[in-house]
Amino acid sequence: MVAMSLPDKKLEHIKQRLCADYPDILIIESQKSYWNPQTRTIYYNPNHSHPIWSLLHEVGHMVSGHINYSGDVELLMMEAEAWKTAKVIAKKYGIIIDQDHIEDCLDSYREWLYRRSKCPGCGLNGLQSEPTQYTCPNCTTIWKVSKSRFKRSYRRTIKTPARKSSSK
Ligand SMILES: [Zn+2]
Ligand SMILES: [Zn+2]
Repeated sequence: MVAMSLPDKKLEHIKQRLCADYPDILIIESQKSYWNPQTRTIYYNPNHSHPIWSLLHEVGHMVSGHINYSGDVELLMMEAEAWKTAKVIAKKYGIIIDQDHIEDCLDSYREWLYRRSKCPGCGLNGLQSEPTQYTCPNCTTIWKVSKSRFKRSYRRTIKTPARKSSSK
């Protein structure tokens, strides 16, 4: 049998503690880390740069009761809440999640949100009018955004404001 490295042992230990503390959930290795509330399963990636923090973050989503989100801003708020909860849980297991790591993770969501909500017409911040649609309150441009939870965002303009007499 191959001897486990120290970080692997630590990860195994945390997994066992989580299984004991939350006996109704499943913890499964996966390429992607996420919480599935329907099957009450936490998927985590052991090859993540910080697998324990990442795992605890998903536990944070679970403990916070996150099921669904209705908009991008809510998604960002849920991310922040999941980290906040994860920090409390981590403490119980003698683990400290680095705040810089949390900010880095939240920054990637913030940037994603910024890219999505930026009006392709005038550059101001639009409002999410539908799960996959933003509207600019300034120039009335409407654009579509990808539905996916957290993917590279793309924007597709579906309505640009009618131009008044062009004066170039
Ligand atoms: Zn999350
Ligand atoms: Zn605009």
